[in-house]
Amino acid sequence: MRHQFQIPDIQSLPARHAMVGSLEIHRALPRSQRRMVGAWCFLDRYGPVRFSHEKLMDVAPHPHIGLQTVSWLLEGEIIHHDSHGCEGLMRAGQLNLMTAGHGIAHSEETPGTNSGMLSGVQLWVALPGDHRDGQAAFDHYAALPVFDVAGVTVKMIMGELLGHSSPAKAFSPIVGAELQFNEEVSIDLPFKRNFEHAIFIFDGDVFLNGRSMDRDTLHYLGTNRDEVQIKGSAGSRILLLGGEPFGEPIVMWWNFVARTHEEIARAREDWMQRERFGEVRGYNGARLPAPELRSIAAPRHI
Ligand code: MN
Repeated sequence: MRHQFQIPDIQSLPARHAMVGSLEIHRALPRSQRRMVGAWCFLDRYGPVRFSHEKLMDVAPHPHIGLQTVSWLLEGEIIHHDSHGCEGLMRAGQLNLMTAGHGIAHSEETPGTNSGMLSGVQLWVALPGDHRDGQAAFDHYAALPVFDVAGVTVKMIMGELLGHSSPAKAFSPIVGAELQFNEEVSIDLPFKRNFEHAIFIFDGDVFLNGRSMDRDTLHYLGTNRDEVQIKGSAGSRILLLGGEPFGEPIVMWWNFVARTHEEIARAREDWMQRERFGEVRGYNGARLPAPELRSIAAPRHI
């Protein structure tokens, strides 16, 4: 599908609008034309939104397999509870990283004491074959590497950029970073040639290699680039994602990443039978039932 902002070397895919409970989101991954960027396989953007009622985000207990959930905030707070008994209160600039492996369940919600603001992204990373059935884990990173380069503040979420590495554990070569332009400036960002990359614009007027780029759109840059020139107006904020193209075709359904329909069906059944995933304590309310399982598309990895 052609889009008016598509240019020959950048694939620009507008995010799909949807509701997750009472929260309005823009889903940039997966899209029919682009399922993954490296091992990144899911990108929901929500906010910025100001609210006055108690809870804006209220995602009841639900299961995951075969992936890492990467929760990242630009503004606001989220509290996580999982079936291993972990609790993680996260503020903007901090990272909640949950490795699902064989299976874990969690809830994510706005804490009772909050700023009344919410802006962030929910990301997933597919786990490679030798780790996807492993032990589940949850890690909260209260502080991540933050550095300035030529008027741009970079926050390292996952992987390495410009000599700065995130301590967050990844299972395949990936990068994830938030860039904030403190003034109008143009920077040349070095890329690993064997990585594919994408940029998502949160805010500001942003130009990639001299071309204006839309917000709420995934701008896919492919592989074999040494660098990209990014110009942003003062206050621009963008998300950079990248990684080695994921060599394994995956199947995604609901909150599961697997390789076959049978694995998905078994995980769904285990959740409905209250097996495998355990119980999430610390969430006040019912857990999410799995949707009906009909047909699942064949494994893909474009
Ligand atoms: Mn989740």
